[in-house]
Amino acid sequence: MPPVSLTCKECKTVYELEAKYVCERCFGPLEVAYAAPTDVDADELRRRIQAGPHSLWRYRDFLPLAGAPPRDTLPAGWTPLLRADRLAERLGIGELWIKNDAANPTHSFKDRVVAVALARAKELGFQTIACASTGNLANAVAAHAAAAGLDSYVFIPSDLEEQKILATGVYGTNLVAVRGNYDDVNRLCTEVAGEHEWAFVNINMRPYYSEGSKTIAYEIAEQLGWSVPDRIVAPIASGSLFTKVAKGFEEWIELGLVDGAVPTMNGAQATGCSPVATAFGEGTDICRPVKPDTIAKSLAIGNPADGPYAVELARKTGGGIDAVTDDEIRAGIKLLAETTGIFTETAGGVTTAVLAKLAARGDIDASERVVAVITGEGLKTLDVVRGTFETHLIEPSYEAFEAVVPGAVAA
Ligand SMILES: *Cc1c(COP(=O)(O)O)cnc(C)c1O
Ligand SMILES: [Zn+2]
Repeated sequence: MPPVSLTCKECKTVYELEAKYVCERCFGPLEVAYAAPTDVDADELRRRIQAGPHSLWRYRDFLPLAGAPPRDTLPAGWTPLLRADRLAERLGIGELWIKNDAANPTHSFKDRVVAVALARAKELGFQTIACASTGNLANAVAAHAAAAGLDSYVFIPSDLEEQKILATGVYGTNLVAVRGNYDDVNRLCTEVAGEHEWAFVNINMRPYYSEGSKTIAYEIAEQLGWSVPDRIVAPIASGSLFTKVAKGFEEWIELGLVDGAVPTMNGAQATGCSPVATAFGEGTDICRPVKPDTIAKSLAIGNPADGPYAVELARKTGGGIDAVTDDEIRAGIKLLAETTGIFTETAGGVTTAVLAKLAARGDIDASERVVAVITGEGLKTLDVVRGTFETHLIEPSYEAFEAVVPGAVAA
């Protein structure tokens, strides 16, 4: 299915496959359109995918590149899908799986979108890659640019977690910390993008960038033996991941690669930045911008570009969009860690807490197969788990040990 154009999501005006993201007629977002498939041999296509590399490039037939993917890229994607029986039991869910996207090269799902945007930027001849980031995107852009030998500029809010700043600067990028929140950073970058010939992965390259998220859906379908789960729970920042995961399933259903319907889509936000959950709750598509105040910094986008589409999707699939408090996020991180061995960052705490909320509310039927998408690594937001458990500090003697943990060894 070769990509043929950029098409306006609203008025359907067609544009060349350039570094362009907004419709000149109606200011709607542009999306990559592909040639309509003819004579699809589903068996052959499945075989070709299975013979591909253990990275998202096994799905290159569904990605917006003109030629072959570059060879010097970090291998994004093909992350584990793990059955989570103990968490399922704790929450009273019949069948639960965790898609662990922390297992990417820079430990978040952002490696997918950057791999695709950067590959397309190279095809278009860009020498410099840039981004406006809430944290994980900064890590991914800096690392993938280093791997590809390109220059990079990374713009972040100055109050970002230290782990994320350190894990970005180490790659030798030009790191610009802006005194302001993500929405301020994004506004500045839109201005910079207008002045410099740079590929801003989530601004002028956004149509290509967001296509990378579809690969989460392809992987889940393939890892479930070419089938579609009943429900997906995934976090929402700009709404790109959430909407594109559904698009991935939709494409494969249309092609006959898998049977069934697009899963029920449940979105997860933090109460401290929940413009999409609020719009869903109020029964409108209009996401009123908010000023973020939450520990889930990677989801702290107050003015989400794909918010209205996320609301529409949740409604259309019988799902919903919920918000959880910072305390619920911390509890979510702990719950996932204690029942699955997966330590996620705050965004994963948001997803797990919303999953728990859905289960507690009785929204999930016992017969359902549910997949929760965990998008980032706990070591990047260490501060939030400080003080949530006890450490036994002792002198190096057996008596001291027995005094704090009596009978532990004898038993
Ligand atoms: C960026 C990000 C998301 C979601 O981002 P969208 O803008 O909605 O695509 C989710 N989780 C983590 C950890 C992220 O870094
Ligand atoms: Zn338009």
